[in-house]
Amino acid sequence: MKKAFEHYKLSAEQGHPPALCYLARLYKEGVPGVVKRSSAKANTHLKQAADLGDSGAMINLAATGRDDTKTAVKYATLAHHYATGKTANNANLLLGDIFQKAKPQDENGFGKSNNLAMHYIGFVVKSDPTAFNGVAASQYSRALMEQAEDLYPMHMSGLNVIPRSIYWMRKSLAAGNLDAKGVISRMESMETGKCSACGMTEEESDKKFLRCGRCKIYWYCSKKCQLASWEAGHKVDCKSTFC
Ligand SMILES: [Zn+2]
Ligand SMILES: [Zn+2]
Repeated sequence: MKKAFEHYKLSAEQGHPPALCYLARLYKEGVPGVVKRSSAKANTHLKQAADLGDSGAMINLAATGRDDTKTAVKYATLAHHYATGKTANNANLLLGDIFQKAKPQDENGFGKSNNLAMHYIGFVVKSDPTAFNGVAASQYSRALMEQAEDLYPMHMSGLNVIPRSIYWMRKSLAAGNLDAKGVISRMESMETGKCSACGMTEEESDKKFLRCGRCKIYWYCSKKCQLASWEAGHKVDCKSTFC
């Protein structure tokens, strides 16, 4: 082990990113009798690897440095540009997560942003709707919803984000994220048994209500109400299920 450590140190000194990352891990975890644990040294090595263009090191720095949002965003954004394939998805999900959970914006407009969260997580779900076992799709769904709450009254036809949001929540469940189940049934139960056009409830009516076969979320007392709602804007909402 000692010999290997010396070997990696030499490679690291010559600026070999994988060696720098490996050493960073050794310093982070420590090896009894060989490497003394040091988070400062681990960080220095990661920073060097990141500065040399190693996207794994950038993501690592961003993920472990979440307390300092600015630095985390800096490294995750670098990774967004440098990384390819799966690593790019890691960077984008991380960026989305940082913007979704950051503190409210400061006077410079830096901080939580549903817009940016949607933007970055959108990259992930577009390239792979099942990414991270559905966690990405679920976060995308939430970001859509929160973004809509920021911007306009939720149930406005033509601007209603609910069908799109539930579409992604269902994708999330299909990809294996069981947490999505409760969210979906809560969203569905809010609309069940109520005509989304005239507001009549199924109890007040003697007819069986019809459900929109496409989004499977909105219900109607009659064909007439369904058509009216479609023309009033549901055709836009119901079809915009893709990001
Ligand atoms: Zn109706
Ligand atoms: Zn629909």
